[in-house]
Amino acid sequence: MIDLVDVSKSYAKGMPAVDHVNLHINQGEFVFIVGSSGSGKSTLIKLLLKELDATSGEIEVLGNDLSMMRQRQVAKYRRKLGVVFQDFRLLQDRNVYENVAFAQRVIGRPTRVIRKRVPEVLTLVGLADKYKSRPRELSGGEQQRVALARALVNRPDILLADEPTGNLDPQNASEIMKLLEEINDRGTTVIVVTHNKEIVNAMRKRVVTMRKGVIISDEEEGEYRYED
Ligand code: ADP
Ligand code: MG
Repeated sequence: MIDLVDVSKSYAKGMPAVDHVNLHINQGEFVFIVGSSGSGKSTLIKLLLKELDATSGEIEVLGNDLSMMRQRQVAKYRRKLGVVFQDFRLLQDRNVYENVAFAQRVIGRPTRVIRKRVPEVLTLVGLADKYKSRPRELSGGEQQRVALARALVNRPDILLADEPTGNLDPQNASEIMKLLEEINDRGTTVIVVTHNKEIVNAMRKRVVTMRKGVIISDEEEGEYRYED
């Protein structure tokens, strides 16, 4: 479902951020992407989101050749992906319900569907009773759950998470990872960039390790073993 063949991405200056990467991810997989800062992890995520175009190589996701995609198709393609970042990116002046509903309104989902799906997804992330709260009234862990609910409300085929626990304490980090695992158990392909060694080693998932734009290891039930 995700296929990168000999993919490189260079920014204007310097070494390629992603350098001749080959990566295949099947539907339903849970994959950790690890590696030191600057190793190209976020660039890889942005390539998958088609926020960036590869300099060379081929990227196919969900049957789409990303280099051939037109602008109208890009919007449609992105609806099949959910994305979560380290810094939550919530609308501060809207409550929890509105933050999640917003993702539906912008794509023109009927209100009747929104009214059904938002409570469902808030229940899934354990926030059903906080739907009226503003982001600043929530803990970091709760804010990340809202971001996760927003990413899931469109029922994406693939969930991309770029350091989703980077701003969380160990307890909240572990709960977010458990949620990601649960979402994966329900069939969504999950790709998680993380520095959380304890969690990676505890979860026994596929681990792809990057270094200087290159995949240096790719292991089933892998461990977090790179050194900075
Ligand atoms: P990671 O997420 O693993 O920390 P990144 O993908 O953010 O790594 O960055 C990989 C390399 O690309 C780094 O050397 C970084 O400085 C460079 N880079 C990232 N974004 C840009 C950009 N917008 N312009 C120029 N260089 C960039
Ligand atoms: Mg990054």
